[in-house]
Amino acid sequence: MIVFDDVHKSYGTFEVLKGISATVEKGEVVCLIGPSGSGKSTLLRCVNGLESYQKGRITVDGLLVDVNDPTIHALRTRVAKVFQRFNLFPHRTALENVIEGPVHVLGQPKAEARDYALELLARVGLSHKIDAYPAALSGGQQQRVAIARALAMRPEAILFDEPTSALDPEMVGDVLQVMRSLADEHMTMLVVTHEIQFAREVADRVLFLDGGTIVEQGTADQVLRAPQNERTQDFLRRVT
Ligand code: ATP
Ligand code: MG
Repeated sequence: MIVFDDVHKSYGTFEVLKGISATVEKGEVVCLIGPSGSGKSTLLRCVNGLESYQKGRITVDGLLVDVNDPTIHALRTRVAKVFQRFNLFPHRTALENVIEGPVHVLGQPKAEARDYALELLARVGLSHKIDAYPAALSGGQQQRVAIARALAMRPEAILFDEPTSALDPEMVGDVLQVMRSLADEHMTMLVVTHEIQFAREVADRVLFLDGGTIVEQGTADQVLRAPQNERTQDFLRRVT
């Protein structure tokens, strides 16, 4: 479970996050939507300690996220992240990309990591591509390897930052399908997305962020079908 309690973050004098309070319960899918520059990526970076925040608290399963604490490395392995741009190691095959973290970060025996990686690659529909290098994979395939790689760490939660927005339209469906299957298995997920249809179908709750403030949150139906806030209404009119 991820808890944000009055989180403030500034870059210099520019306050990007202005007191964020929200909760992602265990097994819940929460979609974070909002205009460009509203602070969505910044908020995700704060959760796994890629970025510090100045005020308030973020906890993951009760553990405080504090970039200055040596345990931050352990925390980073509990919360995986899938980026907008597939950031696979270019000189490693799909399979090698997936076993890298479990072997080198978690210290798992290679054979065990390999077995699990093969299972995960099958699950994302890439059994036929295990020996392919990233350059030989489509964007959608690379993104599915990235999801398998995140799962290989057996994370408690996965953060997604616009995982489909850099993909050609025909690749989007396969990636969303994999994310849907994770949601069905009750993986805890915090997903920044512009895929409103996906959010409608999959999100347990939706947060609408604007100008560093959560101006509206509720069930997908509440926020996406019957938004109360004028800024949410405006935003949805523009993106749907
Ligand atoms: P998008 O939908 O375009 O990805 P976003 O909601 O993810 O937008 P962020 O990337 O979190 O927005 O950025 C929020 C604000 O913080 C923006 O105004 C951005 O210019 C600013 N910002 C982000 N990173 C930095 C940085 N390293 N230094 C200074 N300002 C930054
Ligand atoms: Mg962003």
